[in-house]
Amino acid sequence: MKAIVGGGPKKVLYTLRTASRIGLLNSAKALNSRNACKACGLGMGGQHGGMTNELDEFPSVCNKSIQAQSTDIQAPIPDEVFAHKLDDFRALSARELETLGRLGKPVYKPAGEDRYRVVEWEWALNRAAEGLKAVSPNRSFFYSSGRSSNEAGFLLQLMARLYGTNNISNCSYYCHQATGEALGNTIGTGTATVELDDVAHCDLFFLIGANPASNHPRLLHKLIALRRRGGAVVVINPLREAGLVQFAAPKMLSSMMKGGDEVASIYLQPKTGSDIALFTAIAKAILERGGEATAFIRAHCEGFDLLQEHVLAQSWESLLDGCGVPKSQIDQVAELYIGSENAIFAWGMGMTHHRHGVDNIEWISNLALLRGMIGKANAGLLPLRGHSNVQGIGTIGVKPVLSEEVFARIEASYGVTLPTEKGMHTLESLEKAHDGGIDAALIMGGNLYEATPDSRWAAEALDRIGLKIFLTTTLNRGHVTGVDRGESLILPVCARDEEPEPTTQESMFNYVRYSEGGIQRIASVRSEVAILADIAAQLLPDCGLNFAEFKRHQKVRQAIAELVPGMEELADIDVARQEFMVRGRIKHTPDFNTHDGRARFVVPAGVKDDKSSRPFTLMTLRSEGQFNSIIYEEADSYRDVQHRWTVLLNQQDALELGVAEGDVVDIVSDFGQMSAVEVKLFNLPRSCIAAYYPEANVLSSRLTDPRSHTPQFKSIAVSLVRSSRHAGLGV
Ligand code: SF4
Repeated sequence: MKAIVGGGPKKVLYTLRTASRIGLLNSAKALNSRNACKACGLGMGGQHGGMTNELDEFPSVCNKSIQAQSTDIQAPIPDEVFAHKLDDFRALSARELETLGRLGKPVYKPAGEDRYRVVEWEWALNRAAEGLKAVSPNRSFFYSSGRSSNEAGFLLQLMARLYGTNNISNCSYYCHQATGEALGNTIGTGTATVELDDVAHCDLFFLIGANPASNHPRLLHKLIALRRRGGAVVVINPLREAGLVQFAAPKMLSSMMKGGDEVASIYLQPKTGSDIALFTAIAKAILERGGEATAFIRAHCEGFDLLQEHVLAQSWESLLDGCGVPKSQIDQVAELYIGSENAIFAWGMGMTHHRHGVDNIEWISNLALLRGMIGKANAGLLPLRGHSNVQGIGTIGVKPVLSEEVFARIEASYGVTLPTEKGMHTLESLEKAHDGGIDAALIMGGNLYEATPDSRWAAEALDRIGLKIFLTTTLNRGHVTGVDRGESLILPVCARDEEPEPTTQESMFNYVRYSEGGIQRIASVRSEVAILADIAAQLLPDCGLNFAEFKRHQKVRQAIAELVPGMEELADIDVARQEFMVRGRIKHTPDFNTHDGRARFVVPAGVKDDKSSRPFTLMTLRSEGQFNSIIYEEADSYRDVQHRWTVLLNQQDALELGVAEGDVVDIVSDFGQMSAVEVKLFNLPRSCIAAYYPEANVLSSRLTDPRSHTPQFKSIAVSLVRSSRHAGLGV
């Protein structure tokens, strides 16, 4: 079988095909505009030019970026389409819904009715404000995805708090919240400690629990460049991903000509969820070689003795058995790491989507501190963020708990009293909804229904909310599922490059971009900022703030600059057009943001194993043809999978189950079932299987990491049985 290589001419052709489908002129205009890329958190665009990153490298663009443009550059959905019942919309695939077109006008569905109808803007805004007014604030919640701007996010949380609730959350409670919690404990700051330029100068890159070949494509150029300058890439991932083995970088002609560059120097495939055993084993191999950075540890860290004692007390047998990685590979990684001057640790949701997500990240931090790799140039920590502004949304306060400093500044600046009652995180809000305790929800962007574990339960929870107000550019399943009983209002918003006034976004490198907006595609859609300001003005006429003034994005930026430490440069970004790094986060010197300026080694207490008699561990994953919950293509080209109703299975496991590639199986968990799923043999450890998110969320457990509240999307106990289509062969 021909080996699959990531990137390459097919990707270039696909990108060109997508661009020509939306019109070359349209796509050129969109891609060249000075707006941050709408897709991943790596960040491109902004004031350095459309297809340019902060290092002025051009062209910095990928197929994800073009896919994101492709759905924005659609005609509005014709009004007549809304004559159809909800059931008709639900019969469409996620991709079909997304490609119905842009939502051009507000639509409304009264409680108990079976279809939406087009309504006027003024009526819709009035209904939203009156609906919120009619309920008790502590029986509501407010949610934002990482698509929205800093300006819209800031207004959302300010309106919610003045309304009277801290039930404010964002999509990071389903992705990187564990990162923030863990790094807060170890170094006192919850985001990347490196900038893009550090990646261009490190000599070792640990890529853990992530597949940037599909999810952050431009990072692959940096990894290939690292290999070419003699550095190494250690990939840690249960699945052997083609794009992390070899990748033909479209921007690098030489890479394309030779059919791709090797990415991984060493590829470790631990059992799903066994990361702590693996990290402990790597730490043990380093300590046994005396490879720890003694002077750095003495000068800048606490807790080393306890960590050392804990690590050395673990037997090799239990660690190797725990993770399933051979000792020879662990020794190889330890020696490579000891020989490295500048190592970067990057990770994705393969680390955070577990009951021990925070523990995992604390261990990554331990490994980095062990060799003094945080607090100097070209080395450090890099959480790989999903959506393009998910980090910014957290920075400006879309979260249940504000820092004491921001809380006090808002109260003092505006002469207001904010609620102090504990706010609910994302899953907690839905749990309360399921219990009948939520009367209204304002959901800005995203697809909360499909992003939530245990899909059947999620639909029930959403259906029990009296009024849901959605802000969106296109329709997704979250707008047509779990909406039968209550009222539902969907407000159409501008895409980032259509904003009538500039907005800002923050990349995973803490780099704040200024997006000019200004492209008008559909005259009837509105800015999220204007919508929120209008609702707030009507909802809170006596709150002491003039929300009408906040329709001016610049006014919102000035407020953020005054109230959020690190964001001061936002105040005059309109004039200077100077994009910037959020202050205090990049760690090129060992001055940590803890109370004593020292970093901490942590030996996590550990989460008790959930006992299950189900023999397989399922991880949910994304395909090459999707971005978050948005599906652009049914096929997953890098994994050679033709459709999404597929399960990836180890060959030996398949033999024991008596199934072959192309057979169909049912996957059963304690929460749900996926029936007649096609088997694809794949290189992954025994007893570990994988299926696509969000479809496989029907199986996901609502058990969460107790410290970050992140659901365990990647370690779900399941059984496999031959599908009834092959009755009699069940296992
Ligand atoms: S790597 Fe991410 S930020 Fe860069 S162009 Fe692709 S999707 Fe956009």
